[in-house]
Amino acid sequence: MPTDDPPKSQLRCPKCNRPLRVIEKVWDPKKKAHTCIYKCACGEVVWDD
Ligand SMILES: [Zn+2]
Repeated sequence: MPTDDPPKSQLRCPKCNRPLRVIEKVWDPKKKAHTCIYKCACGEVVWDD
């Protein structure tokens, strides 16, 4: 089966549009899933919600 979904690591910063880098993964017990925390070179932090 084709897997052409763009990888989550290609998320872009809402402020400067640069690619975000995963800095941490945390377990979210409410969603029963891992949530990634991304940080941009400009200092913007984005949660994968
Ligand atoms: Zn940025």
